[in-house]
Amino acid sequence: GLTERLQNAMKRLRGKGKVSESDLRDTMREIRLALLEADVNFDVVKDFVKTVRERAAGAKVLEGLNPAQQIVKIVDEELTKTMGETATPLNKSTKIPTIIMMVGLQGAGKTTTAGKLANRLKTEDKARPLMIAADVYRPAAIDQLVTVGKQIDVPVFEMGTDTDPVEIVRQGLAKAEEDHNDYVFIDTAGRLQIDEQLMDELARIKELAHPDEIMLVVDAMTGQNAVATAEGFNDKLDVTGVSLTKLDGDTRGGAALSIRAVTGKPIKFVGEGEKMSDLDVFHPDRMASRILGMGDMLSLIEKTQKEVDEKQAQELTEKMRENTFDFNDFLDQMEQIQKMGPMDQLVKMIPGMANNPALANASMDPKDMDHIKAAIYSMTEQERTDPDVLNPSRRRRIAAGSGRPIQEINRMIKQFNQMKKMMSQVSKGNFSGMEGLMNQ
Ligand code: GDP
Ligand code: MG
Repeated sequence: GLTERLQNAMKRLRGKGKVSESDLRDTMREIRLALLEADVNFDVVKDFVKTVRERAAGAKVLEGLNPAQQIVKIVDEELTKTMGETATPLNKSTKIPTIIMMVGLQGAGKTTTAGKLANRLKTEDKARPLMIAADVYRPAAIDQLVTVGKQIDVPVFEMGTDTDPVEIVRQGLAKAEEDHNDYVFIDTAGRLQIDEQLMDELARIKELAHPDEIMLVVDAMTGQNAVATAEGFNDKLDVTGVSLTKLDGDTRGGAALSIRAVTGKPIKFVGEGEKMSDLDVFHPDRMASRILGMGDMLSLIEKTQKEVDEKQAQELTEKMRENTFDFNDFLDQMEQIQKMGPMDQLVKMIPGMANNPALANASMDPKDMDHIKAAIYSMTEQERTDPDVLNPSRRRRIAAGSGRPIQEINRMIKQFNQMKKMMSQVSKGNFSGMEGLMNQ
């Protein structure tokens, strides 16, 4: 693969105190071949190699102490630059709804990516998207979108296969207006290759909907074709962003490197599997490191963190609902908070808490947390799971055991009970009196 070839290209420089002109020339030729073999667009390769060579020469790499490292760094930086430098967020309208029109060839992943994006907005931003089924050429396409909608609990507007797609979009947008949806995804038809009729239809939909985002979905496995496709769609529709799908497959990486350079349009998201959660923000720097084989540590960390957070928030919600939150959970939370950072972040993940003004300044002194932990450690298992048994003599024992004053133990238990009460109210959707509780 590309990674291996690039590593080999630079391996020859490793351990050399000095790099000769011919070493550099050989390395650059290897890099060039590696990129071409990975299906990177010819012009992109030419520009890339030229820039790297110039920078390498300009940086006086030839006399540098560690030339291999310097060149790896230059290649890494130039790969990043080729792919757009920084992550580009989804466009957002100043008034709802934000309209996102999905375009691309048949099978590229439009329907799947629409679902993934809607799912992401729903879970992360508590958004209320609507998806419009505007691919009327295959009944199965509508069924597929409906299935995706059910899976992620997002409504789908459809009118079957007998209505003109532009009319479907018109009515779908009216429906979104009526229902106050904040995002609308238009799932359009694709073809096996670009043709006039399809492009005209898409242009008509664009003219009617004025999308904030025209998201071109491109299959990364198709290499050079992906780039030609991107150019074709962009020429006709002036797309605003690209989603690259199937990066989990055996791709040669060329599409990611070429598309930005050829179309000037940012890759915003990458699909890395068929599941609704298999969507990542595209980070050019991380992709560059990945192509160079330096490990995509950041992405991995972010992903792991997210999965842990989500699972935890879910368990916590469950406990709140059942009102079984006890001191063991409290202790778990505290330990997580200390590991993960500020309390307000964690609290915001609890459904219903995200925008509560009473929590805007919720935070806890790490020292206080240590004291609370010490007190909980001094409790018996029975006391932890059934705080109601904490009578005065037990409290005195805990105070002695943790070395904290009895007043502090009393205050902590009171706070815990308030928190528990508040949590069960929030989880039942009863917010009245909550701010009073918070301000006690
Ligand atoms: P559309 O015709 O553009 O709407 O494409 P679909 O959304 O129907 O996707 C076509 C096929 O590609 C489906 O089987 C999807 O499950 C699959 N697919 C889409 N995105 C990805 C991805 O990121 N990775 C993998 N492995 N499969 C994907
Ligand atoms: Mg589709």
